[in-house]
Amino acid sequence: MVEVRGLHKSFGTHEVLRGVDLTVEAGSVTVVIGPSGSGKSTLLRSINRLEKTERGHVSVDGEIIGYRRSGDRLHELSERHVLRQRAGIGFVFQSFNLFPHLTALDNVAEAPISAQRRPRAQVHTEALALLHRVGLGDKADAYPRQLSGGQQQRVAIARALALRPKLVLFDEPTSALDPELVGEVLDVMRDLATAGTTMIVVTHEIGFAREVADTIVFLDEGLVVEQGPPGRLLDSPENDRTRAFLSKVL
Ligand code: ADP
Ligand code: MG
Repeated sequence: MVEVRGLHKSFGTHEVLRGVDLTVEAGSVTVVIGPSGSGKSTLLRSINRLEKTERGHVSVDGEIIGYRRSGDRLHELSERHVLRQRAGIGFVFQSFNLFPHLTALDNVAEAPISAQRRPRAQVHTEALALLHRVGLGDKADAYPRQLSGGQQQRVAIARALALRPKLVLFDEPTSALDPELVGEVLDVMRDLATAGTTMIVVTHEIGFAREVADTIVFLDEGLVVEQGPPGRLLDSPENDRTRAFLSKVL
C-alpha cells in the first residue's frame, strides 16, 4: 500500500531524512518510534506531501505522491492534484486541530462536502455513523470546547475517516492528552486496526505498539535503523541505538 524509497528531506543544511525506506502492506499497522528530532513527523508529513522532499519518492496504492508518471519521466503535480491525493490519506495530529466554530458533526462532514463535493445528506448520515463508531454518537451537536481532549481526538479520527482514506497517519495522537484519556483514543485506534485500516502510527505508547503493530520501525537521525515484529524488536533489539532508546522508554 505504501512504498517509501530513498527519501531525503533537508531544512536548510540540516538533513532530517537521510534516505528512508519503508514498506507498508495493505491492512497492516506500522508503528514508528524514535527519539525526539529523529524525523518521525517529517516522515509522516512527507508521505502526504505536507513537506516536499528533495530525493526519493513515496507511493501510495500505486500512485507516486506529488508526481505524475509519463513514460519513464516524472512531472510534478499541481497543488490541486496534490490535494486530491492528500484527501485519500487521513492525518490525525497530536493537537486535534478541530474547527472551533463547527459542531462535532460538521467537523466530520466538512471536507467530504466541500473538498469531495459529496451530497450533504449522505455525508451527514455517514458522519453520524462515524461518530457512533468512535463512541460519540451523542455528541454530534457539541462544539470542540464542550468536549474533553480525548473526545476531541476521537472526533478528529472520525474526521480523518470521513474522507474514506486508503491510509491513515497518526502523529503522536495521545501525547497531548491527560493520562486518563489516553486509553479511550487507543481503544478507537485498536478497533480501526482490527477492521483492517492501513495505519502508520508515531507513538511512545509501547504497550499499544506491542499489542497492535504488525511492524515496529525504529527511526534515528533520519534513517530506519531497525524494524521488525513487536516481539522481536522490543524484546531482542539487534542494534545498539534501538537498545539504548528502548531502555529509556520501556
Ligand atoms: P520528531 O517528530 O521525530 O520529533 P521532526 O520530524 O519533527 O522530529 O523534526 C526533525 C528535525 O527537523 C528536528 O531537528 C526539527 O527541529 C527539524 N525541523 C522540523 N520541521 C522543521 C521546519 N519546518 N523547519 C526547520 N527545521 C525543522
Ligand atoms: Mg514529531
